[in-house]
Amino acid sequence: YLTEQVREFSVTADRSYLDRFFEEVKQTRRRDNAVENIRSELKTIDADSVQYLEKSLQLSNELVQTEYYAFRLGADSAGYDLSELPEEIQSVQLSAEDAALSAKDKLAKARDLVYSREYQETKDEIHNNADLCTSRLIESVRQRELANSKQLRSLIILQYVLIAIVIVVILLYLLFTEKLIIDPIENFVKSIRSNERMPRNGLQEFSFLADSYNEMFDKTQEDQQKLSYEATHDALTNVYNRAAYEDIMARHGSDEICFIIVDIDKFKQFNDQFGHAMGDKVLQRVSGVLKRSFRSEDYICRIGGDEFVVIMVNVTSELKNLVQAKLERIARILNTEKDDVPPVTLSIGVAFSDRQDPQGSIYEDADRALYNAKEKGKNTFAFY
Ligand code: GH3
Ligand code: MG
Repeated sequence: YLTEQVREFSVTADRSYLDRFFEEVKQTRRRDNAVENIRSELKTIDADSVQYLEKSLQLSNELVQTEYYAFRLGADSAGYDLSELPEEIQSVQLSAEDAALSAKDKLAKARDLVYSREYQETKDEIHNNADLCTSRLIESVRQRELANSKQLRSLIILQYVLIAIVIVVILLYLLFTEKLIIDPIENFVKSIRSNERMPRNGLQEFSFLADSYNEMFDKTQEDQQKLSYEATHDALTNVYNRAAYEDIMARHGSDEICFIIVDIDKFKQFNDQFGHAMGDKVLQRVSGVLKRSFRSEDYICRIGGDEFVVIMVNVTSELKNLVQAKLERIARILNTEKDDVPPVTLSIGVAFSDRQDPQGSIYEDADRALYNAKEKGKNTFAFY
């Protein structure tokens, strides 16, 4: 734009070109403003490219001096009042040779200056430097983008790695939760439902819990066994009590059994003669002999003060002789003094589940047989 103005002026010496030139240089200042803006931007992007810009600016400023000189020549040629022109024109010192030129030659000289090869070359150099600056700038922006894209790619890879790590951590967490918390709780619930001891697994806290539960469980089992033993056994003789007898009969009442009622003869009298404590010893001795005389699957019960019942399971009247032999042996043993316990005699009534002509329940029929034995003078047994 400035070249255009100075060249037009060097041809026409029209004042308006000069005014436009200085308006641009002093007020509009497109060149200076652009350089100012770009310079600070360039420094942050590529400091090297600034040198080309500075060179361009320096050459441009040098060219302006030539242009001022041309304006001065033109102004002199046109005979403008110097005091009305900008300071820059006034201060131009024409060489003695140029000052001596005619008005026409001065304008011609001004034209020579701004159309000269040297002027054009300087202008080209200004453009070259500006182009160099631009291409440097383009290159460094490209490099920067490349570096950014590389950085972006590594960031994306890093992100994938982090996501993978998070997924693995979540899976491990789920696995540990399953193995250390959920499984043990499920096992605990199973143990409680099936009334079993708890297995020791999972977190340490669960092992403590299992230990405490198992301790409680064992104690409860022990208490329950004790209670159930006490509820079903006679405290003095340790054979089944009346309640257990009822229960056994409810279970085996209709099976093939041999039902035996044993009653100690004149036990009241025995107590009176030897004392109640000795009576207790006799009861213990009788139950001990009964227990040893029958099979482990048979039931020995104490259903009254001196009254015992033996229920032999899976036995029919075919075994009558064997039963009889057993009873005779028992009577013989108890009719002999042992460890200072005086002898006692027994009366015994027997009924089989396959007996002929039953008159009542197996108990009632065995009791009839017992009554007969007592009637016959005691110390004997009778089969229904
Ligand atoms: P019988 O020959 O007719 O069977 O006469 P008995 O005296 O044996 O008959 P009874 O049923 O009248 O008496 C049973 C006695 O057993 C009454 C009671 O003093 C005694 N007795 C009951 N329970 C116990 C006990 O736990 N210990 C002792 N020592 N005696 C008991
Ligand atoms: Mg009796």
